[in-house]
Amino acid sequence: MDNISLKALAKINIGLDVTGIRDDGYHEVKMIMQTVNLFDKVSISKTADGSVTMATNLKFLPVNDDNLCIKAAKLLIDEFQIKEGVHIDLEKHIPVAAGMAGGSTDAAAVLFGVNKLFNLKLNKKALMERGVKIGADVPYCVMRGTALAEGIGEVLSPLPPMVKCPVLIAKPGISVSTKQVYNALDDCFDTVEHPDIDGLIGDIKAGDLAGICSKMGNVLEDVTIPLHPIIADIKANMMENGAVGAMMSGSGPTVFGFFNDNKTAKAAKDALTKTGMVKQLYLTTMFNNR
Ligand code: ATP
Repeated sequence: MDNISLKALAKINIGLDVTGIRDDGYHEVKMIMQTVNLFDKVSISKTADGSVTMATNLKFLPVNDDNLCIKAAKLLIDEFQIKEGVHIDLEKHIPVAAGMAGGSTDAAAVLFGVNKLFNLKLNKKALMERGVKIGADVPYCVMRGTALAEGIGEVLSPLPPMVKCPVLIAKPGISVSTKQVYNALDDCFDTVEHPDIDGLIGDIKAGDLAGICSKMGNVLEDVTIPLHPIIADIKANMMENGAVGAMMSGSGPTVFGFFNDNKTAKAAKDALTKTGMVKQLYLTTMFNNR
């Protein structure tokens, strides 16, 4: 096998709580992660000269060691002292710096692909252990599906699959600095409202979409929305157009909405397009790996 093509799937957070701040400055989180069928295409081919290179359709992304794809490839190539190299072609669709773990899922796909191409025989657990060296979200992106993430996001417990329903994903044309959001959270940590993550898990287990939507919560909305009120406007627009629930993913600015049926979701997508508020808009579905 000389090349492999993979789908690197995005995630949303159905619930996101920050439970504490560690002495080293990292935040302790309690998040419900969900994979969705929105993906980047990652094609990896062997190079005989040992070079590790990449190309991507987004010109503003780094294609050097700062790209998580290169980091992931080099991690395995160095560890296993592989003489050949790889060229990675990355076709981005997942919004960048948007709370959807785009870079982390690309890295997870590269770990998976390099493992297969060079027949390294690493199982999922072994890939996840290596993934955490690249980023806290990478192990989850290797695992995929519905999961509770604790610690700094790397302590994972699988949950029963989330109810299948149409998911509308909308990113406005603004950028959010994750660092700025967490810094702002530190300043108001004692007063923010914490979502009921355990209650949410109960509703996921029961397959109760209405219950899930009533309990969905993201503690980071309290700091990101005042900085970028368009996020609240997009949520409101989705709700006005029939979403059962709508929320910001990660540190934002991406908003997702859950719908009972495809017809309503498509109409909501059209309505949101007409507002001109969003730059990237996708109607997708929940990914279930079980
Ligand atoms: P999270 O959901 O974990 O907060 P995110 O959506 O904030 O992730 P990414 O899309 O991964 O963030 O991008 C964050 C930054 O990482 C970008 O500004 C980019 O420069 C850098 N980066 C490195 N590798 C990649 C990659 N393969 N795809 C996208 N961004 C990458």
